[in-house]
Amino acid sequence: MEGFDVAVVGGGPAGSSAAREAAKTENVVVFEKGVRREDRDGIGADSTDAAGFLDYWFEVADFDPEFLEEMPVLREIDRAEFIGPTVRTSMRDTGIDSWYDGFGVTFDRVATDDLLRERAEERGAEYRIGGTVRGVETRRTTDGFVHELTVAGGENVRADYLVLADGPSRRVTLPTLAQFGDTGVKDALNPAEANHIAYQEHRRFPDELFEDDVLRFWWGAIPGETAYPWYFPNDGNVARVGVTVPRDVAVDDGDAYALLNDDETAKPSEYVHRLLENEYPEYGLDDFPLVENRGKDGGVESYPISSASPIESPTRAGVLVTGGAMGTTSAFHEGGYHLAVRTGKIAGRVIAEDRVTEYNDDWREAVGDEVSRNVGLSRLVSGYTPDDWDTIIGHAKAALEGGWLKRLRHVPAILLLQRRYSRLRSDYVAVHEEEYEPGSVPMATK
Ligand SMILES: Cc1cc2nc3c(=O)[nH]c(=O)nc-3n(C[C@H](O)[C@H](O)[C@H](O)COP(=O)(O)OP(=O)(O)OC[C@H]3O[C@@H](n4cnc5c(N)ncnc54)[C@H](O)[C@@H]3O)c2cc1C
Repeated sequence: MEGFDVAVVGGGPAGSSAAREAAKTENVVVFEKGVRREDRDGIGADSTDAAGFLDYWFEVADFDPEFLEEMPVLREIDRAEFIGPTVRTSMRDTGIDSWYDGFGVTFDRVATDDLLRERAEERGAEYRIGGTVRGVETRRTTDGFVHELTVAGGENVRADYLVLADGPSRRVTLPTLAQFGDTGVKDALNPAEANHIAYQEHRRFPDELFEDDVLRFWWGAIPGETAYPWYFPNDGNVARVGVTVPRDVAVDDGDAYALLNDDETAKPSEYVHRLLENEYPEYGLDDFPLVENRGKDGGVESYPISSASPIESPTRAGVLVTGGAMGTTSAFHEGGYHLAVRTGKIAGRVIAEDRVTEYNDDWREAVGDEVSRNVGLSRLVSGYTPDDWDTIIGHAKAALEGGWLKRLRHVPAILLLQRRYSRLRSDYVAVHEEEYEPGSVPMATK
């Protein structure tokens, strides 16, 4: 059987970033199952076009100004609008230091994923596109561990180190980690229990409605912990309008939510269409034609996404979990490209530098702040009703836009929220390395 130093499962931003760093010193293969999209020739990474970056995310991703010159930026963004049932406000400054001095950007996700792949290939990483990994069997050896990958549509391989970067579906990650004992991983990351569906449409907007410098998020419009619609401007007059919804929305008070007609749950597309109708009552859906040569299928795409806290990896077994697979995509606002890139880079780096067991410490040090911020926010708003959203956006509005008297009036409530949030973000790692039992896997027979 063919052998590699490092096998990477998944060729998205996490997998490609890991592959590039590891390939500095190691022999690396990347398996990518290969997803067909309207906006790419042939198959490649999933690349669900979910691509917005805030200023400080460049630093979190460890992208420097030189990389930004190559990055296919579509729009420079000045602000994000948070829209509650009756209150709305704009944020123009994240308040976090960064070398990038604007508010943020939207970028071409497919081209950026392909760029990261090219950069890994330039370093010598080998890509096997169309190679779906079906499973991994880990065995102990006299001097470490070996991982045997079963690949549909390709040759099986063996590797000394395994990087799991299969995104939030975690079809390979979960059974692979289950080899290391009965840990809390399944409860923490099981997509069947935690998953949301993100669905979006690429639509061309009428000139007078298209706004090219703002991201919009509607909160409290549909029930669910991280359920909300959004608007992201891309190139031309095309915006991505989408919605994240839990697979199962249990609702007793459907009337309270702008996008629910009654207590029924509709298809995600229905929510997007209702949003457009509500926001632009003078227009019909036909005034926003679908851009059929984008997305995964005729201008439309969906992607599973989990509401999760991240897990540490069983590094002593030579297994490093990265990006969406380890639960770093924000359960609050879906942001995660920056965290996928950074955790991937760190995984590749510790392998190249032969200090794999430092992976968990390194990623917590590099991105712990950002991840805990996201986990804390999602815990804070879990269970929020539309009224709660109005209240919290009202506080934010007073803080961001109000005069000193108004701000002063909101200070006690804001301090209370901040205290709660600090508590909620303190314990953000769902599974610690000590829970794994790598010694429990059988010895290799030869
Ligand atoms: C609607 C939405 C909006 C978002 N918006 C933003 C945003 O604005 N900004 C931001 O930073 N992030 C955003 N994100 C999050 C971002 O897309 C993810 O955090 C990021 O894609 C995670 O990268 P990853 O490499 O870990 O996983 P993925 O990008 O999912 O890549 C995993 C890869 O593994 C492959 N794969 C899976 N299983 C196998 C297998 N068995 N064998 C071989 N290959 C396999 C897949 O095909 C895929 O290419 C958004 C996500 C969604 C859904």
